[in-house]
Amino acid sequence: MPPRPAADTLDLRALDPAGADEGRAGERGETMEIQDLIDEAHGMAVRKGWHDPDLAQRTFAEECALFHSEISEALEAYRDGHDPAEMWLGEDGKPEGVPAELADVFIRIADTCGARKIDLVTALRAKLNFNSTRPHRHGGKRV
Ligand SMILES: [Mg+2]
Repeated sequence: MPPRPAADTLDLRALDPAGADEGRAGERGETMEIQDLIDEAHGMAVRKGWHDPDLAQRTFAEECALFHSEISEALEAYRDGHDPAEMWLGEDGKPEGVPAELADVFIRIADTCGARKIDLVTALRAKLNFNSTRPHRHGGKRV
């Protein structure tokens, strides 16, 4: 396995030189609005041809399977012995590791929300508000 720089040494601006000029490169402490993520992820998927009308359109079930696949990639990176916070660049410059796979989960979910007009912002607020009303370790589950 090639040596990898620690996540702290990654210059994420180098991953998005166009974005660096627009102030959306991944600097530590950066925040992103959920709706901006949805708009950017879905817009990029459209521009990259994943929603071309001449393609068979993915079903919602297939989209859910793709969410699962990114979670599985995160698990595999962990099973390979990487710390969950470790991210590095592959030989082709592709971000690798658990953080990159978790980012893929968000990107895929955001694309689905954009394509299907799912109001994730409202859903997140509703769920967080509801969860705040639940009792300590509700349901008595172990994990
Ligand atoms: Mg992935």
